[in-house]
Amino acid sequence: MKRLFADGWIVTCDDAGTEHESGWLLVEDGAVVAVGAGAEPETDERVDLAGAVVTPGLVNTHHHLYQTLTRARAQSADLFSWLRELYPVWAGIDDESEYAAARTGLAELALSGCSTVFDHHYVFPRGRTGLVEAEVQAARELGVRIVASRGSMDLGESTGGLPPDELVEDVDTILADTERLVAELHESGPGARVQIAVAPCSPFSVSKRLMTESATFARQHGLTLHTHLAETVEEEAYCLELYGATPVEYLTDLDWLGPDVWCAHCVHLSVDDTGDFAASQTGVAHCPTSNLRLGAGVAPVRDYLGAGVRVGLGVDGSASNERSDLLFEVKQALLVARGRGGPRALTAREALRLGTRGGASVLRRDDIGSLEPGKRADFAVWRTDVLELGGAEDHVAGLVLSAPHRVDRLVVEGEDVVRGGALVKANETEIAAAHRVQARRFAA
Ligand SMILES: [Zn+2]
Repeated sequence: MKRLFADGWIVTCDDAGTEHESGWLLVEDGAVVAVGAGAEPETDERVDLAGAVVTPGLVNTHHHLYQTLTRARAQSADLFSWLRELYPVWAGIDDESEYAAARTGLAELALSGCSTVFDHHYVFPRGRTGLVEAEVQAARELGVRIVASRGSMDLGESTGGLPPDELVEDVDTILADTERLVAELHESGPGARVQIAVAPCSPFSVSKRLMTESATFARQHGLTLHTHLAETVEEEAYCLELYGATPVEYLTDLDWLGPDVWCAHCVHLSVDDTGDFAASQTGVAHCPTSNLRLGAGVAPVRDYLGAGVRVGLGVDGSASNERSDLLFEVKQALLVARGRGGPRALTAREALRLGTRGGASVLRRDDIGSLEPGKRADFAVWRTDVLELGGAEDHVAGLVLSAPHRVDRLVVEGEDVVRGGALVKANETEIAAAHRVQARRFAA
C-alpha cells in the first residue's frame, strides 16, 4: 500500500541538503519511494501534515539504557568519582530491571523523534543472563531499531583498572557470549532492526588483550567496534601512566582506528589525533549534555567536521544526562559549538544533520539518516502550530533553536511508532510505573 505524507516541510538531509517547504513523501513497503513538491503522485492513502516539519528519524550513537535506574546520583562528581560511586549500584542489574530501563529510555527517545538507538551495555555481573536480550525485546515491542552492544570490562581494581573485581569477566567468556548473541540476534543488510556491535568499555576498564581480540572478532564477523575515548583529562593521565601513550596513541597501537570504529566523547583530541581520526575514517559520538553534566569539557566538533571526521550525536546514559531527548541534544550540539567557536561555529541545519545523516554514517548505516528514494521510511513529523514555534518563519531553524519538543509522529520502516504525540505500541504511563518499581530496588 502506498501512503503519501503531503503538505509538509520536508528536510531530506540528502547530499545537497534539499528541502521542500511545501512538499510530500511517498512511502511503500517500509521504504521511501519518492520525495518532492508540486503535483502529488497517486496513492492509496493521503495523510495531510498541515505544514509540519518532516525530518529523517534521529539516530542516537551512544547510550547506556540501564542507567535510567540510577539518575541524579553523584551530582557534583567528575567521571572517575562518579563511576566509583555507581559501579556497586549497577551491580544490581538483572534482566527484569534492564527491560524496564530499556523501555523507559527507548520510549523517551522515540518521543524525541529518534528511530535508531545504539546502546552500549557493558555491565555483566557474573551469572546474570538475558540483559542484551531484554533491551532487544523492548526495542522490538516499541517498534524502534536498535544496535545493541555486547560490551565488556575485564580490568578490575586488583589489576590496575577502575571497576570493582566482581564486575569484570574474562576474555574468553566475553567473546563466547558475543558470538552467541551475534548468531541469535544480529541482522545485516538494509532495514536491519536489530544489530550487535562489539564494545569493550574504556581504556581504564579493559585489558590490551580484550581490546585486540575484540577487534579481531568484530572484523572476522563484519561487526562495528565501539568504545569510550578521551572523555576527560584524568583519562589521558591514566593512559600515560599505565600504557605510556595518550588515548589515541593507545588505540592506534592496537589497530583500533578505522572506518568500522566509532568512539564516544572524544572531548580531548589534539590536532594530530583529529587528523588520524579523519584519515582512518574513525567516527565520533558527540555527547555534549553528558560532557557538561560531568564537567568533562566540550569537544571541538567544528574542528572535527572541518577535518572530515564522521560525527554523530549521543544522549549518553541517564546517570550523566538525565534526559534521553535526542532533538534536545541537537540543540546542545549547536550551543556548545558556539560557546567554543562563536556564532558561526554550527548552524541549526548542520546540527540537525549530525543527529540524522551523521549518526547513520557513524553506525555504518547507509539505509537510514536521509529521506531519499530507496532509503528506509524512518522519519519524524514535528508540528509547527505549537507555542514555541509561533513567530519562526524558518521552521527548521525554529525547531532546533526552541528544542526540546515532543514529536507528533514517528515512523519506522513505514510503521507508526508515535502518533499524536503518544506511543502507538506501548503505554507511557505503564512504562513509567513499571520502571519506578525496578528503580526502587536500586535506591535501597
Ligand atoms: Zn558512555
